[in-house]
Amino acid sequence: MPTVGVLALQGAVEKHLRRLESLGAAARPVLTAADLNGLDAIVLPGGESSTMTHLLAAGSLRAPLAEFLAARPVLATCAGLILLARSANHLPAPPFGLLDVDVARNAWGRQVFSFQEELDWPLPAPDGSPGAPTLKAIFIRAPRITRVGEGVDVLARFRGEPVALREGKLLALAFHPELTDDPRVHAWFLREFVGAAEIRA
Ligand code: GLN
Repeated sequence: MPTVGVLALQGAVEKHLRRLESLGAAARPVLTAADLNGLDAIVLPGGESSTMTHLLAAGSLRAPLAEFLAARPVLATCAGLILLARSANHLPAPPFGLLDVDVARNAWGRQVFSFQEELDWPLPAPDGSPGAPTLKAIFIRAPRITRVGEGVDVLARFRGEPVALREGKLLALAFHPELTDDPRVHAWFLREFVGAAEIRA
């Protein structure tokens, strides 16, 4: 089974670690460039993308992380999606620009605004068999995707707007799959993007 890091500068780190472990992967937080050694993939979690870009710009992790993100599978959720985008508004430093989308931050509502939705996204079950036709998604001050580049596949939509995207080995979601008890997003990421063979169902 693979070893997967979770960027742990700030944000919703712990639940990603626990979910990855529950599926049989080794998981550990990433705080420094040395923490990237030996990882097969990384999760960029939700949280505050302005704080994360600020901390990255101020420290020595940004360049090695950019290299890692360009080469390895990435699961990016909410603020993590913002970090991967080509452009996003009101950030103290530019995002990594690896996912060909433009993003409007906090554009679904105000500070306290969060919501739950059933998305039409028939992800397989962790054992690879067909799963439920829908996925519960929790949005918390979520970004809106205002432009989708040609090489980007839209995997799921909410009110007609893209909320789950794939570009190559990048899987980016505007919502928080670690906050529900449905493990299918992480399981699919491990199987389909990281190539893990023996996912614990
Ligand atoms: N609003 C946050 C941002 O712009 C994202 C929120 C989240 O990750 N839940 O970074």
